[in-house]
Amino acid sequence: MAYSYEAPVSQSLFDRASAVTPGGVNSPVRAFRAVGGTPRFMVSGTGPYLTDADGREYVDLVCSWGPMILGHSHPEVIAAVQEAVSRGTSFGTPGEGEVALAEEIVARIDPVEQVRLVSSGTEATMSAIRLARGFTGRAKVVKFAGCYHGHVDALLAAAGSGVATFGLPDTPGVTGATAGDTVVLPYNDLDAVRAAFAAHPGEIACVITEASPGNMGVVPPADGFNAGLKELCAANGALYISDEVMTGFRTSKAGWYGVDGVRPDLMTFGKVMGGGFPAAAFGGRGDVMAHLAPAGPVYQAGTLSGNPVATAAGLAQLRLLDDAAYAKIDAVSAELRSLVGDALTKEGVAHTVSAASNMFSVFFTDRPVRNYDDAKQQDVFRFTAFFHSMLEQGVYLPPSAFESWFVSTAHDERAIERIAAALPAAARAASEATA
Ligand code: PLP
Repeated sequence: MAYSYEAPVSQSLFDRASAVTPGGVNSPVRAFRAVGGTPRFMVSGTGPYLTDADGREYVDLVCSWGPMILGHSHPEVIAAVQEAVSRGTSFGTPGEGEVALAEEIVARIDPVEQVRLVSSGTEATMSAIRLARGFTGRAKVVKFAGCYHGHVDALLAAAGSGVATFGLPDTPGVTGATAGDTVVLPYNDLDAVRAAFAAHPGEIACVITEASPGNMGVVPPADGFNAGLKELCAANGALYISDEVMTGFRTSKAGWYGVDGVRPDLMTFGKVMGGGFPAAAFGGRGDVMAHLAPAGPVYQAGTLSGNPVATAAGLAQLRLLDDAAYAKIDAVSAELRSLVGDALTKEGVAHTVSAASNMFSVFFTDRPVRNYDDAKQQDVFRFTAFFHSMLEQGVYLPPSAFESWFVSTAHDERAIERIAAALPAAARAASEATA
């Protein structure tokens, strides 16, 4: 596919990057492999806008894959970072900022009695799995196809996100022994979970699930699915781990837990809680967390865990996320969903706008999408045409048909008007696209 617009500065940066970094990027989905064309190298962000190295401005519907829920360069977050950085960048000792951030998380999310800070969502899920195995003395982990929990070896089987984008069945480098302890089941299928517990009695340490998946596109849990998981785990002596790295502090003040109220044994967080810095966490039941070193025998550590600058950014961001902020984000999301749906309907493009609270994505199919296999049935080539038309018109969407779109409190009427103005041509491009 040829593109009628160019990005010469981004292209030359990408050429330089490709000489020194595999594929030219530090996280695969940024490379535009799924959609083609030149990945945009961004130089600044303000509110709902990003500016690339060629000086072109975009309305940002990626929000750094979730974290920038207040938009870019929010003055109060920037001020908190500047204040923290003026006192030093890392001490390798405990500090008050990490206590305050942990207190904020515990106060917001009832099932979290104790929390440990880490630096990425991957670390959070990896550590939660280790803790679940250490606590139960069991090896096996149940996960769902299309759910992505970071690039943890044991969890890369049938993962979503970049793995979904590239259609990789698995990844070289993960040993058979590691993958052998992972049981992968279809999402939204409680009978499959029941059958797995029956097939592996006394062997399953935990079931990990995205609280509401966003990494195969947005596919919310069916009514009663999370509650059913919790029940089956409790009945079989396994822990229920809810991965809220994406949904945490985004889908409500208390994340997806605030939406469905199902109490996990352990939870994982990242993205929003770091305010754009590397801060993440896992936490949950006090008796389980008590097994973690130095209180207990399960080892877990990190040189930069609870970093003072990252915790200052995260805390400043969380403190600004009150009821009014969530009401604003929900309203922006609802307006965009209806604009996108109307534009595609007008051009006769088969689609489903799938939402979970304010997270949403567009599947280019009108068949119901309840799991990863359903998501893969969509006309990805139509998304590709839609994506490039939006990009050309200054709207930055996730460069993959299998990702959530994210909005922020900074998406104001002007930003929404710019998106609305771009939609008719993008919908037409999707309708005219050929496989
Ligand atoms: N869990 C979920 C649900 C995610 O969406 C992600 C990242 O997208 C992760 C875990 C991994 O987080 P990180 O990229 O910070 O390692």
